Amino acid sequence: MEYDGVMRYALVLLTILCAAALPVCRGEQMPVIAVQPLGPVDRGTVELVMRGVREYYRLEAVLLPPIPLPPHAYYAHRNRYRAEKLLAHLDSLHGAAYRAVLGITASDISTTKGDIPDWGIFGLAILGGRACVVSTFRLRRGAGEAKINERLVKVANHELGHAFGLPHCPTPRCLMNDAKGTIATVDYSTGRLCDRCREKLLRSVAGGVR
Ligand SMILES: [Zn+2]
Ligand SMILES: [Zn+2]
Repeated sequence: MEYDGVMRYALVLLTILCAAALPVCRGEQMPVIAVQPLGPVDRGTVELVMRGVREYYRLEAVLLPPIPLPPHAYYAHRNRYRAEKLLAHLDSLHGAAYRAVLGITASDISTTKGDIPDWGIFGLAILGGRACVVSTFRLRRGAGEAKINERLVKVANHELGHAFGLPHCPTPRCLMNDAKGTIATVDYSTGRLCDRCREKLLRSVAGGVR
């Protein structure tokens, strides 16, 4: 009986450990994060994001073949794409297959923000959802390649943080700070989660962060 109790305890412990390190456990059977280029995106840019995601969240990531931007998401009046429609599109294509799908586009993207019906953004995700999208369009401003790359990885990991259930964080320089459309906030960010966000993440889905 005692042995049985120990075994049961070990099984419970194993279950808890797997729950705490969900993406890592799942990664043995299926890729956790899928990166989906939307429209023409530079291959080097995509690989940079793949590396950034893998290294920070220590998750498995796969690269999906590029697909065109969906015409129904195009907002002709501002010559850009509605981000929430891109999320729904990504979700309908791949949602069930991966823990998260990260779309990357070079086109401008937008969403509704408060009273502003069409607000240009760096990226978008739904809290606890599966789909995220990032755009390089607004990250290019006043920056060389190295800075653009740094911004892109920060924005990608920020959006994935939302997908993993992390809301915006008031801690200065935390990865989950709300950029509020200001590139200076992205540049000011360390690109890493503050201790509180890190603990929250470890309690929820990820196996670990650097
Ligand atoms: Zn955010
Ligand atoms: Zn934080």
